[in-house]
Order: sequence, then C-alpha cells, then structure tokens
Amino acid sequence: MDLGQKIAILGPGAQYDTCGPKDFGQTTDIPGVYEAKVGGRYTCKIFKVLQSNFCRNNCHYCAFRRDRNYLRVNTTPEEMARAFWSAYSRRLVQGLFLSSGISDSADRTMTSMINTVNILRQKYRYQGYIHLKLMPGASLSCIEETAGIANRISLNIEAPTEESLISLSPDKTLKKGFFSTLAEIKKVFEKRKFSGRKNPSLTTQFVVGAGSEKDWEIIKMTHFLYQTFSFKRVFYSAFRPVKQTPLENKPAVSLTREHRLYQADFLMRFYHFLPQDIPVDRNGFLSENTDPKTLWAQKHPHFFPVNLNRADYWTLLKVPGLGPISAKKILKLRGKGRVKNLAWLANQRLQILKISPYVCFY
Ligand code: SF4
Repeated sequence: MDLGQKIAILGPGAQYDTCGPKDFGQTTDIPGVYEAKVGGRYTCKIFKVLQSNFCRNNCHYCAFRRDRNYLRVNTTPEEMARAFWSAYSRRLVQGLFLSSGISDSADRTMTSMINTVNILRQKYRYQGYIHLKLMPGASLSCIEETAGIANRISLNIEAPTEESLISLSPDKTLKKGFFSTLAEIKKVFEKRKFSGRKNPSLTTQFVVGAGSEKDWEIIKMTHFLYQTFSFKRVFYSAFRPVKQTPLENKPAVSLTREHRLYQADFLMRFYHFLPQDIPVDRNGFLSENTDPKTLWAQKHPHFFPVNLNRADYWTLLKVPGLGPISAKKILKLRGKGRVKNLAWLANQRLQILKISPYVCFY
C-alpha cells in the first residue's frame, strides 16, 4: 500500500478526535484535511490523521476496536512526516493534529508519534502548530518529550464516571489511566513552568451519550477539570453509531445535546456559573428546548429586572442575550451617558427581543 492509500484510510479515521466544536466528520474532500476553529474564531485547515489504526483496546463505540474486522494500517514516522509535509508545502493545511490507536503499549505508540514530530521539527524545520494526542498510561519521559515539541496536547477522558467509562471501554479506567496520566502531566507542566518554559495547552474530550452518563455528571467533571488541571478546553462529541460495533444499533445522539453542553461549559468558563447553577431536569439532563442560561433566568425571577444603568459586569452577564462582549459594550457606553431604552440597545445591535423581558433602565 502506498502512502497516499494509507492516508486515505488514516485521515478519515481521525474524524472521531475533536480539535474544536462542530468539526465532526470529514470536512473537506482531501483525506486528512479538516477545517477546524482555532481560538474560537478563525477557521483553518488542519491535517488530522492517525499514525496507526491498530488498537489493542476494545471500546464499544470505536471503529478501531480490537475485535472489529477492519483494514489496519500503520505508518512509520518518516512516512507520516512526509505526508504532512507534502500537504503543508502545497498550502493545503496550516497545522497538524496527530492521533493514534494504541497498537501495543502507550509508550511505543507515543514514541512513534513523537518521532514523527521530531522529524518535522528537525529535518523539515517545521515550526508551526502541532496538536498531539497523549495516550493514557504514557510514561513521564514520553509526556516530557511531548510537552517540549507540541503546541497542544490532549488526553481524552471519554466518560465522566468510572462506571460509565468501564461500561464503554472495558480496558480503560479513569483512576489508573486518565487521572494518573493527568497527575504526570501536571508534574511536567510545573517543572517546565519553574524553568521558564512555555507549556502546551491541554484539552480533553467526552463521548456524549454512548453510555448512560447524565449531562449533570459531565458538567460536574468538566468544572473539576477546569479548576484542578487548567484545561484550556473540554470538547463534547455526540455519539454516532459505527457499524459492526456493539453499539451499532444505538441511535445517534442529537447535536442539540452536544450544543447544550458547550453552552453549559461557556457559562462555567466565562459567566461565573457553578455546576449547581446549571439547570438540569430531574434525570440530570439539560433541556433540549431551552438554552441553560435562559432556563436559569426563568427559574430566578427575583433576580430580574436587571438595571442596565447600575448593574456590574457579572450581573449583566446573567441577562439572557448578553454575553461578555455586549456586557462590556454596555459598561463602556454607560460611561458616556445613560442607557436609555430598547431602541438604544437595538442601535448597538444587541438582541433586544431576548434581553427586553429581563432588564430595566431606572
Ligand atoms: S483506545 Fe478505544 S477509542 Fe481509542 S482507538 Fe482504541 S478502541 Fe478506539
């Protein structure tokens, strides 16, 4: 099999790894070339690919699980570096996201990926963006090396509780896999910081709805991860059934559920909401019909109306329809005079229909 044929299999195979919201699935016609959002704003093209789709594990939802009859492909570090460089030098992509199945041990898998990146950095003198996936159970030395060559690293949690993870991925545990590796990452990051070196950003991903986990459990774990391990982003990937896996007959999870989790995540990161502030139903799920911030406002009528001429930044942020940018805009313009009426808000291009039930001016 030539390199082009390998990438035609390993490129689409990487679709299950998220490097940003809404990038699920192959987003361009060229194998391995995906459009992804960077920094929440800019769309760029990333070469997202697997080093290998061999895997010793048997996760029930995964296309590359050990027991699935599937065409297995491996690339050497030289081959993968050449494939990326070929796409990069033709200006088809601006960065690399390299992931892999765990062919034998976590360290051997990581070594192959690290060698790919070292070839790119040293032989091809590539200085651009590289996102490397870390395998749970990787050794301290592998983590140190990864942190020294990548701009971003990700370690996927997949499920929010031990019980839900074991029901999906019988070979994995949160405690011995995800959290013990995270503890090693923390040590490496502290050591690098102490010696004045910049750390790569750290992300993780949940597979949403493959098991019986509740949104509430995902929200609680997300908050814990942001607070305790300085994650840059947590991503949510709605479950899609894959043929010839134990979950092939389970219905796909709605993208609305995924979207609501992103909204809850934003509320915790940018709006000072705590997990217990995020409204969930009695079964622990976010509403599919109403966004969590509007639902919070409906459940807290005593908090409103908010006086747009007096409220501080954090109070403004509780108003449905106002986000960090519009709240700052109101504060800035307020310094120049009173916020008078809805027409004034409409002139500032604010969502007056959403805002008006919750605000007053005097
Ligand atoms: S570890 Fe699990 S999710 Fe990852 S590639 Fe292997 S089977 Fe798939």
